[in-house]
Amino acid sequence: MTVSDHRFIDGKAVQQRLLAEVRAKVQEASATRPIGRLVSVSIGPSPEVAVYVRNQARGAAAAGIPFDQQLWPSEITQEEAKRLIVEMNDRDDVLGIILQRPVPAHINVRSLQSAIHPLKDVEGMNPASIGNIVYNDVAMAPCTAAAAVELLRETGLQMQGLEVVMIGHSEIVGKPAAFLLMAEGATVTICHHMTRNLAMHSRRADAVVVAVGKAHLIGPDMIKPGAAVIDIGINQVTDPDGTVRIVGDVDTDRVKEVAGWITPVPGGVGPVTVAILMRNAVTAHQRQIAAGWLQS
Ligand code: NAD
Repeated sequence: MTVSDHRFIDGKAVQQRLLAEVRAKVQEASATRPIGRLVSVSIGPSPEVAVYVRNQARGAAAAGIPFDQQLWPSEITQEEAKRLIVEMNDRDDVLGIILQRPVPAHINVRSLQSAIHPLKDVEGMNPASIGNIVYNDVAMAPCTAAAAVELLRETGLQMQGLEVVMIGHSEIVGKPAAFLLMAEGATVTICHHMTRNLAMHSRRADAVVVAVGKAHLIGPDMIKPGAAVIDIGINQVTDPDGTVRIVGDVDTDRVKEVAGWITPVPGGVGPVTVAILMRNAVTAHQRQIAAGWLQS
C-alpha cells in the first residue's frame, strides 16, 4: 500500500453488520422468552442528550429490542433517582438501564451508575463492569471504548503485539479502551495532557486511538505512514462563514494522506458505539438467564 492509499473505515457499515448480528441473536433468544426493554433515562431536557437517545432508539429498533425513553424531571433528587433505578433492577421486564449524560449538577452520576445492577449495566459503566475488563471479561465493556477496538479490528491488522498509542485516559473512554486493547494482545502506550512529547509516542505507533476533545489535535506529522487512526473525539467548530460542524480530534483531511486507515467524524466511532450498546444488551439478556433471573 502506498502512503496516500488511505482508507476510511465506514462506521455506518460496521454498525449495520453488528446490528444484523444482534438482531439474529435477539430473534433466537425471543423464541424461548421475550426480551425485556432497554430503559433510557434522561434527567432534565437536553438537546444534546436527545440526539443520543434518538440514535439509540433507532439502533434498538434495528436490533429488535424494545426501547423505553424516560425523561425524569430536572429537579428529581438523588435519592428518588436511585430508588427508581433500584426498582428497575428488580423488574424482569427491564433488560437494561441507560443513564444518559450529562445530568443536572446536583446529581452524582457515578453513584447512580453504581446503583445499576452489573447484569443490567448495558453501558458498562458500573465500577464492577469496569473491573471485569481488567480480568479480560470484555463482553459488557464501555460502548465507546469497545467501538474503537471494533473499528481497529476492521483494518485486519494483527492485534497481537500491535503498537497502539491511546491518547486520552478518561475513566469512560481512554482507560477502558487501553484495557480492551491489551486484552487483544496489543502493546499499549497511554498518553494524556501531562505527556511530555505526544508526537514522539504517536509517530511510532501502528495504530493511534484518540479520545481527547480537542479539534485538530492530531496532525499528519504525528502519524507514522500507513498507521491506523481511530478518532473518538467529538468537537463542535464554527467555520469563518458561521457554519457549525462536528469534527473529531484528528485533522482528518491532512492525516488521511499519511494514514493507512482513518475513521471519519461523524460516521466512524459514533454509529458503532450504538451497535455495541445493543450487543451489550443481548449479552445482558444471556447473562441474566445464566444467573437464573429469567425463567423461560
Ligand atoms: P475527558 O475530558 O474526560 O478526557 C480527556 C482526556 O484527554 C484526558 O485523559 C486528558 O488527559 C487528555 N488530554 C487533554 N488534553 C490533551 C493533550 N493536549 N494531549 C494529550 N491528551 C490530552 O473526555 P472523554 O469523556 O474521554 O471524551 C473524549 C472525547 O471523546 C470528547 O470529544 C468526547 O465528546 C468524545 N466522546 C465520543 C464518544 C463517541 O461515541 N464517539 C463517546 C464519549 C466521548
